Amino acid sequence: FSSNQKRINVLKELEILRKEALTDPLTGIGNRRFAEITLKPLEVSFAEHGVPYGVLFVAIDHFKSVNDVHGHDVGDLVLRMVAQTLANSLRPLDVACRWGGEEFVLIMPIVTEGTLRGMGERQRALIESSWLDQGGNPIFVTASFGGAVSREGESGVEVIARADAQMYRSKASGRNCVSVDTGQ
Ligand code: GH3
Ligand code: MG
Repeated sequence: FSSNQKRINVLKELEILRKEALTDPLTGIGNRRFAEITLKPLEVSFAEHGVPYGVLFVAIDHFKSVNDVHGHDVGDLVLRMVAQTLANSLRPLDVACRWGGEEFVLIMPIVTEGTLRGMGERQRALIESSWLDQGGNPIFVTASFGGAVSREGESGVEVIARADAQMYRSKASGRNCVSVDTGQ
């Protein structure tokens, strides 16, 4: 019994360490490594069964000025708020991760360009209408979204790169909007 118990404890300890290694400590959602791991089985099911997946790349707009005006600690709270907004409004199989800095990725199994755009639009509107309460002084932010659906022969990282490029299109078109790669 005691040796079994030890083994169980080691497994529990490993599970805790794994979770720590894949979680972004500031926001509590998955980190970049977790995003990469999440993409692997989606790449396989796309290659083997043709089930497409999509990525929404999200970057907070003018985030530097949030830090400049309210301080870095408040900036951190805004990052947490945006991460929670994104993570709380997903479909059951979707995953939200912090890609780095003020950038997030949403990984969505089984999507079309239309669903991806709809999900992006919904998330965009939710972020726009959420606020952080700083002693009766609400802080609002917006975010720019870019979307891409997997294409034949492409790796998950390549899909993310196309979603990232679309996010820059959204920035260039005035921010707080969603652009999806339609191949045109
Ligand atoms: P744009 O809409 O053009 O993207 O404007 P931006 O201000 O977001 O521009 P930029 O991408 O250059 O700035 C990102 C800022 O995010 C700069 C950096 O200090 C801040 N940042 C990155 N990581 C963190 C973090 O963990 N906490 C806080 N508070 N700020 C962070
Ligand atoms: Mg930025």
